[in-house]
Amino acid sequence: MTTPTRRGAAFGALLAFLSLFLGCSSSRASAETSRTDFVLGTLCTVRIVEGPKGAKAEKLLDGAFARLRAIEERLSANKEGTELARINEAAGRAALPASDELRLVLGKALEYARLSGGAFDPSIGPLVKLWGIGSDAARLPARSEIEAARRLIDWRAVELDEAAKTVRLARPGMRLDLGAIAKGYAADELKRLLAAGGVKAAIVDLGGNVYALGAKRGGGNWRIGVQVPDPQAGRGEYLGIVEGLDMTVVTSGVYERFLEAGGKRYHHILDPATGYPVENGLVSVTIATGSSIDADALSTTLFTMGRERGMALAAKLPGLSVVMVDAAGKVYLSPGASKVFTLTSAAYTLAD
Ligand code: AMP
Ligand code: MG
Repeated sequence: MTTPTRRGAAFGALLAFLSLFLGCSSSRASAETSRTDFVLGTLCTVRIVEGPKGAKAEKLLDGAFARLRAIEERLSANKEGTELARINEAAGRAALPASDELRLVLGKALEYARLSGGAFDPSIGPLVKLWGIGSDAARLPARSEIEAARRLIDWRAVELDEAAKTVRLARPGMRLDLGAIAKGYAADELKRLLAAGGVKAAIVDLGGNVYALGAKRGGGNWRIGVQVPDPQAGRGEYLGIVEGLDMTVVTSGVYERFLEAGGKRYHHILDPATGYPVENGLVSVTIATGSSIDADALSTTLFTMGRERGMALAAKLPGLSVVMVDAAGKVYLSPGASKVFTLTSAAYTLAD
């Protein structure tokens, strides 16, 4: 018998939100305008720290959350009637017209599929749906079901036609899932929207996918807490802190969404080669960089590739800071990360 235990995405997001070290006193904080709502399957918070105030700031937040909902209407695989859901329904049949937005995000996802040799794969949908990790339908599937779903996964059979502006999935039953990249894209979009609206400093936190816009009040670095990669860790426990200006910090970890069945824990990042959750000794991968769509895609991509292959790929990409943690509590930093990341948890040690 399986007993799915699901950690609420909202709670995880709240922890991530609480993990921001903003260093504001309450009187200063009152000059901020902030809003939290459930969108894109998670708790999203936007805080305008410096820029328009009062009604103007509220209007900007209206626009920001409307934008998030519009992105969800296009890119969600879990909601009925979205643009992505329609493409999934037409798998094996017609090419469907696809918006610029969907083609951009899917194009990026396919780029990371190629870079990772298919360890990252946006056509992972049949497996994500079968396991249902993070949803009420989470369960340990039978091996035969996993095999059947696995056979449908093939990023090379995703036909993205930029000239015709269409997408087609070559085989019936194929299913796209952009859950590893959509929040990063959304964070970039909100950053652009806020900056265009005159915001000088803000925090966009989409379920732990954070973008810190501008500089902290007074001009200092943002200090963003990285959560301890342990489902048992209490609220406000940090692995360490990333410092910087105008940056995004995104983590993929085994602690975020998981299922417990038969005394074993199954997390939500799946290996297209086995059909089971990735098991390579890593428990979390954090990326700090300028572009959130890349950080989101890469945190998942490097996680699926494992420490050595993942770090080797990261070394070829400019402007990345990568923090990897393994199950033994060792923390591995890319050369860039050693400049911006400080380990604060005594339970973990830096690898040489
Ligand atoms: P993240 O939390 O950004 O690492 O993304 C994890 C989500 O991406 C999962 O909940 C799935 O929706 C999806 N996913 C799981 N495994 C993969 C994979 N190997 N490649 C691409 N997307 C994946
Ligand atoms: Mg991701």
